[in-house]
Amino acid sequence: MDWQQIFAARNERMKASEIRELLKLLEQPDIISFAGGIPDPDLFPAKAFQEAFSAALTPEMQATALQYSVSEGYGPLRDWIVGEMGRLGVPCTRDNILITSGSQQALDYLGKLMLSAGDTALVGWPTYLGALGAFNAYEPRYDRLDPETNRSAADYAEAAGDGRVKFAYMSVDFANPTGKTLDAAMRERVIDLADELDIAVIEDAAYQSLRYEGEALSPVLAREIVRKGDINACRTIYCGSFSKTLAPGLRVGWVCGAQEVISQLVLLKQAADLHSSTINQMAIATVAQAQFDSHVAKIKTAYRARRDAMLAALQTHMPDGVSWTRPEGGMFIWLELPTHLRSADLLAQSLRSERVAFVPGHAFFADGSGTNTMRLSFSRTDEAVIEEGIARLGRLIAAALEA
Ligand code: PMP
Repeated sequence: MDWQQIFAARNERMKASEIRELLKLLEQPDIISFAGGIPDPDLFPAKAFQEAFSAALTPEMQATALQYSVSEGYGPLRDWIVGEMGRLGVPCTRDNILITSGSQQALDYLGKLMLSAGDTALVGWPTYLGALGAFNAYEPRYDRLDPETNRSAADYAEAAGDGRVKFAYMSVDFANPTGKTLDAAMRERVIDLADELDIAVIEDAAYQSLRYEGEALSPVLAREIVRKGDINACRTIYCGSFSKTLAPGLRVGWVCGAQEVISQLVLLKQAADLHSSTINQMAIATVAQAQFDSHVAKIKTAYRARRDAMLAALQTHMPDGVSWTRPEGGMFIWLELPTHLRSADLLAQSLRSERVAFVPGHAFFADGSGTNTMRLSFSRTDEAVIEEGIARLGRLIAAALEA
């Protein structure tokens, strides 16, 4: 049977990436992997979750925990998030919050909500690979969001051709993949640009809580509320996640935005999966209420030490001509090599001879550029292994430069 004739045209944009396929080979224990970008399982609050799940399964609670629930999400969890958003400078109510199955689901729904085929999504060059994956199903064009240039709104609008620019998507704090943070002036500039273009802003805050140094910057949504007085008058849609702070496997994230957007997203969620797992939402609520701040403080201490170890090792082992970012939080450092080096080739060599893995950077560019870049994650490897892995990588790159 020729399934390609049966699949809808939009599937043409949804190809398995060669990198993802390659990274599947990384299960072997002798590989030092800087590829993943996932939390360290040793830091999961497993005991707290054990108690929370037990409590949810008592005779008094099980009828709620194991039952269907409302699409908007579990009330006490939404209330906790309302408090957390308030602390971030985003006054809102339960009606501004939708619980999603991870923030990945929020990205899918936002693409579905806003993109008709041929519309334009503004994204960073590079940007989060999973955002491109989520949006691709809705057949957009991509254009480069670069608030540091003074490119005019008219120019963006014109480049959109027959479609319309619908939103700007950004990972704002310690971005995946670069580790960079959008500074205050650039956050304001994005709101100006969105106002001029009359588009939405998707603020992906997946790493927001993981700051290891420096002053926290208030979210784009908080800044827009300062300007417009009320979240329901705002165009910024904030996507939060418990994946990097508590546990990704429970798949709990949230969207915070204007009621008009949330109520339409609720309809999409109803149609797609009715609601996120009730018991998982209850467990997240219990653990967040009891120890969100103390747990986050604990994991930040561990990740900060790993970041510092990787920055120090890069300084020691990288040859001249290689540069890298100095993230104030998150899980990633971004390397730029001299332009003639291809990081995808280096990965193949590295897996063969050095047994070190990373993600070649071109995967994060909507136009496939960035072939001389790479993403390194420091979140899952202890300091001694980081030093060893970066030493090997430095050797490999130095040899490639001499060749
Ligand atoms: N946004 C960014 C920037 C991410 O790095 C990730 C996960 N790697 C996500 C969203 C999705 O995470 P989750 O669905 O687990 O919340």
